[in-house]
Amino acid sequence: MEEEKFILHGPKTLWTVQKSTAGKQLYDALVRHSHLPEAMIDVYTQERISYKALLETTCRLAQSFQRCGYKQNDVISICSENNLNFFCPAIAAMYLGIITAPLNQNYTKGELHNALNVSKPKLIFCSKKALSKILELKQIFTFIKKIIILDVLQDVGDNESLSNFILQNSDESYRNFRPLEFDCKEQVAAVLCSSGTTGLPKAVMITHTNLSVRFAHVRDANVGEQTIPGTTILTFMPFFHVSGFCTTLGNFIVGLRIILLKRFEPELFLKSIQNYEVRSVLVVPPIIIFLAKSPLVDKYDLSSLKEIGCGAAPLGKEIGEAVVKRLNLDGLRQGYGLTESTFVVTVTTSNEFRPGSTGQLVPLMSAKVIDIENGKPLEPDFVGELCFKGDMVMKGYKGNIKATRETIDENGWLHTGDLGYYDKEGHFYIVNRLKELIKYKGFQVPPAELEALLLIHPCIKDAAVVGIPDESAGELPAAFVVKQPGRQITEKEVFDYIAGQVSSPKHLRGGVRFIDEIPKNATGKIMKKVLGELAVKMKSKL
Ligand code: AMP
Repeated sequence: MEEEKFILHGPKTLWTVQKSTAGKQLYDALVRHSHLPEAMIDVYTQERISYKALLETTCRLAQSFQRCGYKQNDVISICSENNLNFFCPAIAAMYLGIITAPLNQNYTKGELHNALNVSKPKLIFCSKKALSKILELKQIFTFIKKIIILDVLQDVGDNESLSNFILQNSDESYRNFRPLEFDCKEQVAAVLCSSGTTGLPKAVMITHTNLSVRFAHVRDANVGEQTIPGTTILTFMPFFHVSGFCTTLGNFIVGLRIILLKRFEPELFLKSIQNYEVRSVLVVPPIIIFLAKSPLVDKYDLSSLKEIGCGAAPLGKEIGEAVVKRLNLDGLRQGYGLTESTFVVTVTTSNEFRPGSTGQLVPLMSAKVIDIENGKPLEPDFVGELCFKGDMVMKGYKGNIKATRETIDENGWLHTGDLGYYDKEGHFYIVNRLKELIKYKGFQVPPAELEALLLIHPCIKDAAVVGIPDESAGELPAAFVVKQPGRQITEKEVFDYIAGQVSSPKHLRGGVRFIDEIPKNATGKIMKKVLGELAVKMKSKL
């Protein structure tokens, strides 16, 4: 029996967790919000989609899946920039117990190769932009049977458009379609990419129950950012990442009016807040710095904005306070969480804004901070590893039992690899990352992935990658390289070599430094802390 001392339990929810599948809850929400004029507006094209249209498209798509023989536990993938149709396949899949594996559309072919190898989708929905990459991969992976393009009206070659696929495979009887029932605790709804520090990104299995807890939170005014249907919010968080995927599904549950950006573009972001009278935005720390410092902010009327939610990486106390003051906000809500915890597990509650804190434990979850030496729970104000338990903890990593066991212990505690503490009132503070995942503008950069690439270069003997602090990006990936004796390679050549193989956030913007030896401890682990300090002292020539 586990000791109860120094274990925190989240408060009760105003909304109980529903027993039905996430798919059924989404279906009910789309029905409930059918009278609202808009669910989502694409800022670039001015196109919009209503909740009624989402309901029709998702039911027709589910019918099409069934008629084409897709069934429970089959995997589909979505590889696309944020767009109005992104969630149609995901929701339709959830109606049927089909698993969705979203992919970062900016991944290079090599990165996509690894991710697809784990999730093995039969069907991929992609944007026109991502099509050529996906077509090349279809040649390699025979499990990919079909590609459907999300953002065109006409087919491209042999590849059907979403609208034609639906037209060919559904009819008016879609109105009789109802989501299926299955075991929510066991049934995986989505497989999201997370970063391992010891290897390639891992595939996090999120169940219908995991999502149901999130759905209970979003409707709870203490935890959810906006809970009134029709409220206008703006998002540019990538839909393939837990921050865009789980928040947007939650937004549909509430019935929000979502203003959609593909990515953060400063002027467009500000103009959209002004023109669409946005009440709430979800951002990452570099945007907070922009809002605190940029003179552009004064050019726009942002008076509709009442709330900012921020997460994904550490945020300085002062900079958060500066934005609240400058924009005259009710507060700034921070959230802390991981892909493995189905998004935020601590959040600033509506009336408890504490600068520097990532808020309090969410309902239905338990937390403890453990001593990293002996694993014992620590009392308030002591720094240790943050651990969480409850129905938001992922089912595990797909195809990786070893990594699952290393992350979720036998008592069900998720070990986050983050260092932090909670104060006597239960407000959490994140101190540092125990694990080595680098966060560049909120994007995950796994050092081990870059190290592996560096190590296969013939001129490189040994290598290590660390994050160096950067005010606007959070962290910049920087490499330490030991040259192969007798071989020559320049900093720029190392930079270009990496840039040629991985997506932009993983480029070595922190520079390249040549050293004689990579410091390692007795068990062969690279001493990242030492290198982090050295990186700041030793300037790169790039
Ligand atoms: P991801 O799985 O991409 O969401 O990354 C999760 C990691 O991001 C966590 O383990 C933390 O290291 C970091 N993180 C997320 N939210 C915060 C936050 N509010 N403050 C500090 N670090 C955060």
